[in-house]
Amino acid sequence: MFNAKAYAVASATSPFARTTIARRDPTEHDVQLEILFCGICHSDLHQARNEWSGMPTVYPCVPGHEIVGRVTKVGSAVTQFKPGDLAGVGCMVDSDGTCPECQAGFEQFCPSSTFTYNSPDKHLGGVTYGGYSDSVVVGERFVLRVPSNLDLAGTAPLLCAGITTYSPMRRQGVTKGKKVGVVGLGGLGHMGVKFARALGAHVVVFTTSASKKEDAFRLGAHETVVSRDGADMRKHAGSFDFILDTVSAEHDVNAYLQLLRRDGNLTLVGAPDKPLPVSSFGLIFGNKSLSGSLIGGIRQTQEMLDFCGAHGITADVERIPIQKVDEAYERLLRSDVKYRFSIDMASLKSE
Ligand code: NAP
Ligand code: ZN
Repeated sequence: MFNAKAYAVASATSPFARTTIARRDPTEHDVQLEILFCGICHSDLHQARNEWSGMPTVYPCVPGHEIVGRVTKVGSAVTQFKPGDLAGVGCMVDSDGTCPECQAGFEQFCPSSTFTYNSPDKHLGGVTYGGYSDSVVVGERFVLRVPSNLDLAGTAPLLCAGITTYSPMRRQGVTKGKKVGVVGLGGLGHMGVKFARALGAHVVVFTTSASKKEDAFRLGAHETVVSRDGADMRKHAGSFDFILDTVSAEHDVNAYLQLLRRDGNLTLVGAPDKPLPVSSFGLIFGNKSLSGSLIGGIRQTQEMLDFCGAHGITADVERIPIQKVDEAYERLLRSDVKYRFSIDMASLKSE
């Protein structure tokens, strides 16, 4: 074992504080990374503040699952990485590798998957600690190759916000000629806009923040709708093939079901804790479907990173030092992020 520097919360209401955590020495299949950047996902905030009743938080909690870094050590059986390589780690660090879900490339649904933080740590006991840290040790199967042509700070968010929006778009066949809506222009939403545009769709952004309209066009939207404006919403009734809902708080999904065409799909990726009421009439008139989607498997995450490399896609980030993570969380709650915070881990070196 060795000590790593990290930022942790001690309770749902505590501010972040500098701490020291144990990481395992790499076993033969492990890769050790020096973390260079870690994105701040709204899930980090939900988890740090114990907002998900189904996934209670174990404290101290070190969030962070949008990790890019440089390989510093590899175990003797590692074949795909060597010291000095750039690499990424997303929301998962382990799974059994043998169950039907793993075999099908859906490691996120493996009954014994290990998430990057707040998940039972099979090596050290306790729970796993995430990327708000200077290093991490992860089994090779869960380490991703990072395209060399992309800005690293903007690449980190691809490991969660990227795959979470890319995966349902691929599943739902987003392509040229499709009309696609993205609800909520935050970390996930702005990646959704970039992917939908790159896949050739006609892209419409739904935002509660009128001030984000200009940015939405710059990010790739063809149209924007301020969702609090009923008349603006009605103009799109019955017209969407697919809508991706990234909203992190309670809101009315029925308003979006009305905008789907026959056989259209609304996929929820946002994860507010409270159930969202759904009108059955909103679904049955038009044979519409409502789905959910959880991140994406490792194979598809690599496909997404390669797609980003080929299309020059990264997240739009505000780089922050780790000392500003509490302030960043408050800004996330005000929907005031353009459009992902990316922690520059060099700021942890001096502490
Ligand atoms: P974020 O950056 O905070 O973006 C959320 C956006 O939702 C905000 O920017 C805002 O956009 C909109 N919004 C916020 N409160 C709202 C409200 N009360 N009513 C309507 N719109 C509201 O968060 P994120 O990191 O993108 O994450 C979004 C959600 O996805 C979180 O719940 C997170 O836990 C979840 N998530 C799920 C997965 C998965 O695998 N399914 C993966 C990662 C994250 P506007 O200002 O444009 O309205
Ligand atoms: Zn996330």
